[in-house]
Amino acid sequence: MRKFLFVVLIAVFGFVGYGFYAYTVADWRLAPDPRAVVMETSLAPTEAEWHASLLMGLVRKALSEENPGAEKALGSIGESPLDLPLTLPQGFAYRVRLLRYSVPVFDERLSAWEPLALEAGEYALDITCSAPEAAGQGYGSFRYRCTFTVEPKLEPTLLTGRLEPEQGDIVSLRLVHVPPGITPRAETELGMAIFTPDGADAWYVAIPVSNTQAPGRYEILVQAGDRDFVVAVNVLPFVFAEQNLIVNTESALISEASSPAAYREYRAKIPPLFETFDAERYWHGFFIRPTIGRISTEFGTIRYTNGNYESFRTHNGMDIAAPEGSSVFAANAGRVVLAERLLNTGNTVVIEHGGGLKSYYFHLSRIDAAPGDMVEKGTLIGEVGSTGYSTGPHLHYEIRIGNRPVNPDMLFTANAGIYSAANVKLAHALPAPR
Ligand SMILES: [Zn+2]
Repeated sequence: MRKFLFVVLIAVFGFVGYGFYAYTVADWRLAPDPRAVVMETSLAPTEAEWHASLLMGLVRKALSEENPGAEKALGSIGESPLDLPLTLPQGFAYRVRLLRYSVPVFDERLSAWEPLALEAGEYALDITCSAPEAAGQGYGSFRYRCTFTVEPKLEPTLLTGRLEPEQGDIVSLRLVHVPPGITPRAETELGMAIFTPDGADAWYVAIPVSNTQAPGRYEILVQAGDRDFVVAVNVLPFVFAEQNLIVNTESALISEASSPAAYREYRAKIPPLFETFDAERYWHGFFIRPTIGRISTEFGTIRYTNGNYESFRTHNGMDIAAPEGSSVFAANAGRVVLAERLLNTGNTVVIEHGGGLKSYYFHLSRIDAAPGDMVEKGTLIGEVGSTGYSTGPHLHYEIRIGNRPVNPDMLFTANAGIYSAANVKLAHALPAPR
């Protein structure tokens, strides 16, 4: 009996001794190590509390740890709905608190979570992972925190400037926040619109109002993906000058320059250029006057020849009278698409500025450019002359968008024309189709 008591005593002491030892050495190795993974980032607990189970649950040791530095800043998460694919260790439950600017937008068990489309803002995510107290087992909780930002989703937006163009003006629009992969387009009763990129997600839209466009109200529909914008413009009449040009028809040069062969050549060389465009925008800022001199014939002038008032031609460019040999400069940056002598327009240079906006230089005495040349604003391209159908040294300077001649004057000033960013206002967007 004594022997038996002794054995029991030894066993009890052994058990208690082992228990004491186990309690002393018990540490986080006895706790589970759950991880929360948010936006593919593994989070470590900022707070942990665990009641380790010892001696088959007869004794528990409380462990606790705080590590505020484990809170992670995940940065911007874009606009995708926030999904929380948390992996649950057996027997654990998650509680999720999501706060936007400290205001809860979700505060429930994870099982109630549905991917949320989040408004833009600053978010804090607070996840508690806990195992309930159960006989013979450890229990406790782990807390994870992270912060992230949802950037505002930028909708395509159309900016407009002046919407009361005169005949010969350019209607200038700017489309911003266009998602990648979307090529905007336009339909307009004014005939055509050119788009040139302005950075990664914006476009310049230029709609020429030719000098012969009838005054009145016109609509422009601009589409960017599933967003439609309608802009109404009111074309105002422009009073064009009239001019009676005296031409010596006896002159061999004039008769050659106005011969059927000359017009045939013109039609073969110039109108095909109206159809071509470079997608890239080369021009920047205002256009410079390509040469120095007096404007001898304004853009759009209604021109009679030798007093024949029955028939007229409209002057599609601007004539700048200057001494023979005066330098002619590229009005803006671009690519030379034509540089040769033509019977009607004489020595001719044409520069593509991007999107189908071109400048035309006629009657040069010499050409200092070649097709394919990339020119800067102010690059010397030739000299003033009187070649082709011309009655004296001058530069015929013409600006066209596609086939539409526009008033070169409007491009000389910094707050007008196609680069106009002044006086922009939001165009009314139609609701996106459902
Ligand atoms: Zn002219």
